Amino acid sequence: MRLSRYFLPVLKENPAEAQIVSHRYMLRAGMIKQQSAGIYSWLPLGLRVLNRIQEIVHQEQVRAGHIPLLMPTLQPADLWRESGRYDDYGQEMLRIKDRQGREMLYGPTNEEMITDIFRAHVNSYKDLPLTLYHIQWKFRDEMRPRFGVMRGREFLMKDGYNFDVDRDAALHAYNRHMVSYLRTYERMGLTAIPMRAASGPIGGDNTHEFLVLAQTGESEVFYDDRVTALKLGSREVDYDDRAEVAGVCAEFTTLYARTDETHDAGLFEQIPEEHRKVGRGIEVGQIFYFGTKYSEAMGAVVTNDKGEKVPVEMGSHGIGVSRLLGAIIEANHDDKGIIWPEGVTPFPVGIVNLKQGDAAADAACASLEKALLAKGLEPLYDDRDERAGAKFATMDLVGLPWRITVGPRGLANGVVELTSRRTGVSEELTPEAAVERIA
Ligand code: ATP
Ligand code: MG
Ligand code: MG
Ligand code: MG
Repeated sequence: MRLSRYFLPVLKENPAEAQIVSHRYMLRAGMIKQQSAGIYSWLPLGLRVLNRIQEIVHQEQVRAGHIPLLMPTLQPADLWRESGRYDDYGQEMLRIKDRQGREMLYGPTNEEMITDIFRAHVNSYKDLPLTLYHIQWKFRDEMRPRFGVMRGREFLMKDGYNFDVDRDAALHAYNRHMVSYLRTYERMGLTAIPMRAASGPIGGDNTHEFLVLAQTGESEVFYDDRVTALKLGSREVDYDDRAEVAGVCAEFTTLYARTDETHDAGLFEQIPEEHRKVGRGIEVGQIFYFGTKYSEAMGAVVTNDKGEKVPVEMGSHGIGVSRLLGAIIEANHDDKGIIWPEGVTPFPVGIVNLKQGDAAADAACASLEKALLAKGLEPLYDDRDERAGAKFATMDLVGLPWRITVGPRGLANGVVELTSRRTGVSEELTPEAAVERIA
């Protein structure tokens, strides 16, 4: 992508309304534009990151055996009357009437709708286990939308729902979600700690939230700091092996880690003092096992292997897809801008032409662009007629992992400069070697 032809409306000044760094940088780097409180347009650069995050979420769900579908944003109120949540949900629900006067709502979550799909098509244990998920826009009329996409009113969520014949199978689905979430967040360069949580309006008593530690997080967290060193890494997990999956969950949930809602001061005191930490965290996901709460209310029944009709066991599992952009930036930035982890970066590399219009520099940049594209690495090429300082400032703000700087002086010696955004370390290399170095 050539910057002269792109749409990257960078802001020079810090926007006054942004209180936290991720919101500031998303506005300044031209990623989002607010259209109304808590409602945003995703500008091209922001959309690229949002798409990469969605791609990782999809890949890890499919790897765990979960199946994508897509439900609508608008739902009929009657479905929510069946579960009793139409009245319970309160002011966060955006209620709408269509021209016939039918009551509708913009979905804040989809337990009722997925249960309706399930009961229409499945009635035997032989069709289980089944986990269906989608990535879809949600609306919650938050009392205080703030911090940009972190607490929006319209936001993108991955929500998945498991259907199982009995409690053990449903708990395995719960564990499968935990492991797939750990891998999802790690691929985005995040450490998200599963913490025992309280269930809120979804219901159920078995639930964990995933928290990214950050000063600007809205939750207070209490933890043994040895949890932050746990990594799934590249190990293979067999998602069908209940004991193996449960073992991974045990590894990540044995050390103390809780939010203020479930904090237990007595247990916390037992952690060796040097490991006892109190901090703040951003909730980037939550998993719930709630059994038959919705299936009983809505008549989602299956026949088990004894021929008995039983309400299906369920759980629901969410990832805050759009919130993740904010969380990733909170955890990866410096005073010049964003530092994208490789897994989610909008472009893998930027090219800065120090002397636009110089025949040798222009040709070298064009051939670098071509070589990178041939490797499947689309560069963001700053081909504008701008000062070097302004080009560097834009690249630092946008935060691509690598920058290749091309100028007549280096080219006279056959080299370009390759700079890591994270370490700031630069090397002089031939253009071929620079392309080779970028993963
Ligand atoms: P919070 O405690 O932040 O209000 P929640 O517990 O109400 O979130 P869940 O129902 O657990 O949210 O939804 C799953 C995920 O969706 C959350 O873990 C969070 O990452 C994301 N999410 C929830 N509300 C918002 C919002 N207003 N804006 C952006 N993301 C959100
Ligand atoms: Mg909430
Ligand atoms: Mg919450
Ligand atoms: Mg939650």
